[in-house]
Amino acid sequence: MTQIIDGKAIAAKIRSEIANDVKTLASRGIQPGLAVVLVGEDPASKVYVSMKEKACQAVGIFSDEHKLPAETSEAELLALIDKLNHDPRIHGILVQLPLPKQIDTEKVLEAISPSKDADGFHPYNVGRLMIGKPLFQPCTPYGVMIMLKETGIDLKGKEVVVVGRSNIVGKPVALMCLQQHATVTICHSRTRDLAAKVGQADILIAAVGVPEMIKGAWIKPGAVVIDVGVNRVGDKKLVGDVEYAAACERASAITPVPGGVGPMTITMLLYNTVESAKRTVHSEK
Ligand code: NDP
Repeated sequence: MTQIIDGKAIAAKIRSEIANDVKTLASRGIQPGLAVVLVGEDPASKVYVSMKEKACQAVGIFSDEHKLPAETSEAELLALIDKLNHDPRIHGILVQLPLPKQIDTEKVLEAISPSKDADGFHPYNVGRLMIGKPLFQPCTPYGVMIMLKETGIDLKGKEVVVVGRSNIVGKPVALMCLQQHATVTICHSRTRDLAAKVGQADILIAAVGVPEMIKGAWIKPGAVVIDVGVNRVGDKKLVGDVEYAAACERASAITPVPGGVGPMTITMLLYNTVESAKRTVHSEK
């Protein structure tokens, strides 16, 4: 029987642990604070920002929302980030992407203090991950690792195949698996014979963004399948990057879409914010 890895249940467990940590911090007079900056009116970004705000409130994190007009200049955004970098109430800063054309995204991400970089996208934090000494880890790949851990899947010596090499999912999740002593193969759009590569995986992590492009028949019987993809087909239906029904016939465990990796991303954002607040306590000692 294929185990369905329940992202909602794992996320709920981690969020309740986070809420307890927030209470402990409160007893020491500290409330973790997350600043979320949204520039413009992108409908999907607005939904994400409001989900993040609600999630913060549910666990007792102070949510400091900044909604700026689409015509905001780069200098204005950098000035706000500078202010937030110096605001002691704020332990995490997140700038919702994508940003409008007039703003250089890299410049903005690099302006966030590495010690408040809740998304883990600053080159300093990327470098820390690379050398195996992470500080802030990017939320979606971090969520994948927590799901594997909570499901009791040990990566040591396993063949992990990651399909996708983006800076926000594919590359960091590959590094995290390497850190857990897996043998990691990273595939992308120029990879030859993807089916054969996928077929070698004890643990397959798909982060492509193409609906059900990884066929169930490619999967090694007994493999664990983590599907990061979220693809809308038609008006409402969401599907992953893996052909789910066929993959269930072969996988020993699989994440559904929706209800798999999705709920973990915001959970790890909350986690990163609270861990950052804890670090300020330790640095005051
Ligand atoms: P990107 O578009 O940045 O990267 C996609 C990657 O897939 C690229 O490396 C690309 O290769 C590779 N790719 C594209 N087509 C193929 C192909 N035919 N064969 C092999 N590789 C291919 O996407 P993201 O990493 O940002 O996101 C990936 C998916 O994860 C999306 O569905 C996204 O919605 C979802 N996602 C879900 C999150 C969640 O919270 N659950 C959070 C973030 C993302 P190349 O580099 O060669 O172009």
